[in-house]
Amino acid sequence: MSASTQPAIDGWFATDGSGAPYLIGAKCHQCGTYVFPPRANNCPNPACDGDELAQVPLSRRGTLWSYTENRYPPPAPYPAPDPFEPFAIAAVELADEGMIVLGKVVEGTLAADLKVGMEMELATMPLYVDDDGVERIVHAWRPVTSQRGPAK
Ligand SMILES: [Zn+2]
Repeated sequence: MSASTQPAIDGWFATDGSGAPYLIGAKCHQCGTYVFPPRANNCPNPACDGDELAQVPLSRRGTLWSYTENRYPPPAPYPAPDPFEPFAIAAVELADEGMIVLGKVVEGTLAADLKVGMEMELATMPLYVDDDGVERIVHAWRPVTSQRGPAK
């Protein structure tokens, strides 16, 4: 990641040796529950009083569980490109953890291109450029297609 590109929110994702992004979640030591975004304590499982969660890399792939399309700019303080382009938001059930992670869908893919149950993989996309000229990126979902490079 170059100095001019930074995550919009620290600590939500990282990239592996090949540059592929993965989300960072947290896992409860006591009951094994996963949570995203990551947190250091206070297990989200109501039946568990665990208070120590470890940061863990999450599955890069999952199944599309639900999605929606935003046709209007978000309200302040969320940055919106001008002119506004509609974008899709996907809820993806992670392959190994079974939890749902929300994210924008990469540019150029809208609701008409999506189908519940399709395989999705993690990507990143620019969100906005901050006052220092740094491009802030966020995690995003994209459909797994055969048009891409070899699957990992
Ligand atoms: Zn727990």
